[in-house]
Amino acid sequence: MSDFHDDLALLPGRGAQTWIGGAWRAAHSGRTFAVHRPATGAHLADVADCTPHDVDEAVTAAQQAWPAWRARTAAQRAQALHDWHAAIVAHTEPLARLMTHESGKVIAESRGEVAYGAAFVAWFAEEARRAYGDTIPAPSADRRIVVIRQPVGVSAAITPWNFPLAMVTRKVAPALAAGCTVVLKPAAETPLTALALAVLAERAGVPAGVLNVVPSSDAAGIGEALCADVRVRKLSFTGSTAVGKRLMAQCAPNLTRLSLELGGNAPFLVFDDADLDPAVDGAIASKFRNTGQTCVCVNRIYVQAAVHDAFVERLAARVAALRSGDGLDERAQVGPLIHARALEKVQTLVADAVSQGASVVTGGEARGGLFYAPTVLRDATPAMRLAKEEVFGPVAPVFRFHTEAEAVAMANATEYGLAAYLYSRDIGRCWRVAEALESGMVGINDVRLGTEVAPFGGVKHSGFGREGSRHGMEAYEELKYLNFGGI
Ligand code: NAP
Repeated sequence: MSDFHDDLALLPGRGAQTWIGGAWRAAHSGRTFAVHRPATGAHLADVADCTPHDVDEAVTAAQQAWPAWRARTAAQRAQALHDWHAAIVAHTEPLARLMTHESGKVIAESRGEVAYGAAFVAWFAEEARRAYGDTIPAPSADRRIVVIRQPVGVSAAITPWNFPLAMVTRKVAPALAAGCTVVLKPAAETPLTALALAVLAERAGVPAGVLNVVPSSDAAGIGEALCADVRVRKLSFTGSTAVGKRLMAQCAPNLTRLSLELGGNAPFLVFDDADLDPAVDGAIASKFRNTGQTCVCVNRIYVQAAVHDAFVERLAARVAALRSGDGLDERAQVGPLIHARALEKVQTLVADAVSQGASVVTGGEARGGLFYAPTVLRDATPAMRLAKEEVFGPVAPVFRFHTEAEAVAMANATEYGLAAYLYSRDIGRCWRVAEALESGMVGINDVRLGTEVAPFGGVKHSGFGREGSRHGMEAYEELKYLNFGGI
């Protein structure tokens, strides 16, 4: 029995099982893989290790469940989603603890993620009832033109470990609302939250086969199987740019529809007319959330020369006071990194920056296990690796700039384009810079981008497609144009 028996209570005997076609069962391989706590390295649970054989069964189950699910009225699908939402909210604490165990994020953030993730389910329950079409004035008097929306069909979702709950609901809820069925492959680091969501969907009355979950230690094999299956009509992926490009190539033979929410390299611009304290608050909230492991985390901080030193001083004082610890400790503000590779990458990027002239203002060292000290670097330059790559860790490099044009050029000098932030009290500058930044989202004097009501997504190598908002269901809908003649 796991030492964390009480915190696994949402998964009674389910941890080592898949959820396929409305049945909990072992993977065909009979194998399991281990899930560990990043905070301590302790063994948490063993999870069913699916292979393409299980994927085939899951797609079959989803295909069989699709006609009845799409035939339900929008109000009936909405009700199932409302019931799922209520079940998720009612289990906020056990879901949050599970997420903190497997992802390492601090418990307050896990509770926030339950609320954030649940909000997508409620939102798309509402949107299900508003899948409106169009009527279009026809080119001749004896015709009428109507456009309707129809579900694309079986949809696959591949999700990352950094938001084990919200990335699942952000895909599954709009798919179900649109009338699609889903095969979900959660990240190998965090499959337990996804399985717990399936338990709650089952309790909420989501019918057999409408949601299927196939955890696996063989992500590449599962990805290939999903892309090769012609019955899968849509793939929605959130993860790294490298894997996204690979999946896009794999989807080409079947022309499988794709949404790609990929990596970021968010710039954070502080102009000399900014209010510095809110800018420092924003930088910390965005940079250190989830220990710097979010796709919209600030990656590069650019500060105008006149306020540069004052900003660095205030930022460093606050960062030095951040408390690291096991996420289950209510006092912890920053948790561990997800795995040893992530820690090594952070160490390598900091060493590269220091070797090229950056100075460590605070932090700059590993702290045992998977912990890295919250860090501020100054004198960062565009030549350093951390200017070009996602750090994905608690390291804030500060760059200096002189003019607005220089700031925009440096901010845009990246292949990524997910989130960007700027702080200024000059309304004209806010508009000019926000419009000039090459990114899907811009936070202006505010870093809180994630909300179910707004379209989330990127440009350039950060991918395409938007999740959340009234646009979120479009990824799971086909437009069909009906041309009526002889009127
Ligand atoms: P990753 O390695 O790409 O993993 C993401 C998911 O893809 C996991 O489920 C992973 O499974 C799976 N996967 C890995 N290789 C695969 C393959 N060859 N075929 C099919 N699936 C495969 O990304 P990560 O490093 O875990 O996640 C962090 C990345 O996600 C960052 O770049 C971050 O910016 C990005 N992200 C983007 C958004 C957004 O909305 N744009 C949101 C969150 C995160 P395993 O875990 O089993 O390997």
